[in-house]
Amino acid sequence: MTSKSAAAAARTTVYGYPRQGPNRELKKAIEGYWKGRVTADGLRSTAAGLRRANWRQLAEAGIDEVPTGDFSYYDHVLDTTVMVGAVPDRHRDAVAADPIDGYFAMARGTRDVAPLEMTKWFDTNYHYLVPELGPETVFAADSAKQVAEFEEAAGLGLGLTARPVLVGPVTYLLLAKPAPGVAADFEPLTLLDRLLPVYAEVLADLRAAGAEWVQLDEPALVQDRTPAELNAAARAYRELGDLTDRPKLLVASYFDRLGEAPPVLAKAPVEGLALDFTESAAANLEALAAVGGLPGKRLVAGVVSGRNIWVNDLSKSLATLGTLLGLADRVDVSASCSLLHVPLDASAERDIEPQILRWLAFAKQKTREVATLAKGLAQGTDTIAAELAANRADLASRAGSPVTRNPDVRARATAVTGADARRSQPYAERAAAQRAHLGLPLLPTTTIGSFPQTGELRTARADLRAGRIDTAGYEERIKAEIREVIAFQEKAGLDVLVHGEAERNDMVQYFAEQLTGYLATQHGWVQSYGTRYVRPPILAGDISRPAPMTVRWTSYAQSLTSRPVKGMLTGPVTMLAWSFVRDDQPLADTARQVALALRDEVNDLEAAGTSVIQVDEPALRETLPLRAADRPGYLAWATEAFRLTTGGVRPDTQVHTHMCYAEFGDIVRAIDDLDADVISLEAARSHMQVARELAAHGYPREAGPGVYDIHSPRVPGREEAAELLRTGLRAIPAERLWVNPDCGLKTRGWPETRASLENLVAAARTVRGEL
Ligand code: GLN
Ligand code: ZN
Repeated sequence: MTSKSAAAAARTTVYGYPRQGPNRELKKAIEGYWKGRVTADGLRSTAAGLRRANWRQLAEAGIDEVPTGDFSYYDHVLDTTVMVGAVPDRHRDAVAADPIDGYFAMARGTRDVAPLEMTKWFDTNYHYLVPELGPETVFAADSAKQVAEFEEAAGLGLGLTARPVLVGPVTYLLLAKPAPGVAADFEPLTLLDRLLPVYAEVLADLRAAGAEWVQLDEPALVQDRTPAELNAAARAYRELGDLTDRPKLLVASYFDRLGEAPPVLAKAPVEGLALDFTESAAANLEALAAVGGLPGKRLVAGVVSGRNIWVNDLSKSLATLGTLLGLADRVDVSASCSLLHVPLDASAERDIEPQILRWLAFAKQKTREVATLAKGLAQGTDTIAAELAANRADLASRAGSPVTRNPDVRARATAVTGADARRSQPYAERAAAQRAHLGLPLLPTTTIGSFPQTGELRTARADLRAGRIDTAGYEERIKAEIREVIAFQEKAGLDVLVHGEAERNDMVQYFAEQLTGYLATQHGWVQSYGTRYVRPPILAGDISRPAPMTVRWTSYAQSLTSRPVKGMLTGPVTMLAWSFVRDDQPLADTARQVALALRDEVNDLEAAGTSVIQVDEPALRETLPLRAADRPGYLAWATEAFRLTTGGVRPDTQVHTHMCYAEFGDIVRAIDDLDADVISLEAARSHMQVARELAAHGYPREAGPGVYDIHSPRVPGREEAAELLRTGLRAIPAERLWVNPDCGLKTRGWPETRASLENLVAAARTVRGEL
């Protein structure tokens, strides 16, 4: 093998492409189908058109091996569930009666049948539907979708090679959970021997359809895996590799470095590996060298990030590719993961200045980068001299821009001391000062911040955007809403009130729009789940806060009542987690800048007379790195950013935080490190499990485990809420227990919100009377 032959063979590929279409045509077609406005044939033909357009776009960009089967009406993990015949029993009849309706029933549920649970796809903001498996699960191959989409692409006549992409069997099982009614300790991975023959059948079908290569995605192998799990992976790929009637196999991993898996995969009898070689997974390079490279195998090198939206540093990627040439028989170029996680086309952005737009690469731009890199690799860098020069200029423009380098912001961040990230008194002393200052009853009642976002509010925002009302008119409507929310809370008898967040479209975007250094996109939609798309703001530069962001609304609310009104902010970790973040400095530095901007807001709220301030960090846990070894470092900067945000207030100002999850045993220490005075968490559905866990870990602070499940329109009864409180009291003493819902109420309607909060206050009164 010479590096020259490896380079000459360099091909270009990606593992997946945004599904929605340039104008979210897919979302519109699917939602139209749900409402009966689009027929099944109409939906199928829209989908086919979008797939064709994507392959065409990939071909034009210079991608010569295109993915197939990555398209989905809802989610590719659900598609895999269909492919392996693991439809839950409760959905079998619906799927048999009508595959499309049955599919959507699994995704969204029906009046009578619950959907599959949804959870995050690794550390992305994409959500997949969790397979439900048990000892009784019988798999059966259904390769129809994979075969049909392969044939569609192969039949396009664009001179493309089509490569089916499947979720691999090990990852599929590791992402599954025990089906309802199955023992909680059931391990889906024990079904591997039953699942492999199904994959063998699908592979044979794809081979018969003409597929030369099939990609099996195994991102679960970048997480910490036990020896038993690694053995299972070794067995899986030995068995699939030993099949005779199969296409060549490309096993792909992404989102991080492969920890213990490289030796397993290098030894497996498969023809190729696809690995992430972006900065965060750079260790893959040494790992590959350590196993002696991949002699005789194909290596697909993910050097263009499929996660961020920044132009690639082409020279750096070429250097990586050059190193890899010595390690495999053939090195092909790709994005690091499916481009599903980035928006479609940066050139569609009209509102971003050209001087900044040149820094950005969305899916379409990334495919061009992949093609350029492959050309440079195969034919020499001279052949891409113009692209390299333009790329250097783009990178220099970004590095030298006052947007990315604001000396004042940098000086301030550098000057931060340990004392800035610490309240002036320890928690116990603060708690006493706050008790005196706030004069709240035992078991104080409050809410998490938002009240129902009614149709009128959305209309008001649309009216403002369309120029039908002016800013003053809009603000009048917001004020009217605040008056209503405050009046209701007073009447209901809540103790710590909120202004209701009526002015906020979204808890991150609202702040991003007001912070310098953030960019908004017009068309930068990314799939969150199903037909829900989000437009994450781009954290592009040094962050500062030119003016207060929330003070006037909170102050207005406070002017209407003598009870304390809680100020509401989104915390620094969540501001990063739900944005595209910059890749030119450590996340910790970015978090610190955001924290300082938020700290100004917190201090201004206090100066304006706010004595309770809540800083929401729902993303603290979901941002945990995939590998345990990386977690302490993350938690150190994440908790510091929170403390920096909140550390500047007086001891008698009460800092709250809120998180939307019930399972957090692994981060209780970190939650304590936030040094917040009060935390609210989701608990209603798990019957106060959170309270017991907090107690088990000796959590010393005040806490409000939710007694009202806001995910459902169901109104919790008074006695039910009281019972939850009594359960909570067995774990948390009355002096430290708060009474609140699980999360914000923005998705709820007013009638159930009213009734539920009235019951919540009544329950608190009842239980107070029993103390
Ligand atoms: N304060 C926010 C709200 O009430 C919190 C939202 C969240 O936790 N996701 O809407
Ligand atoms: Zn929440």
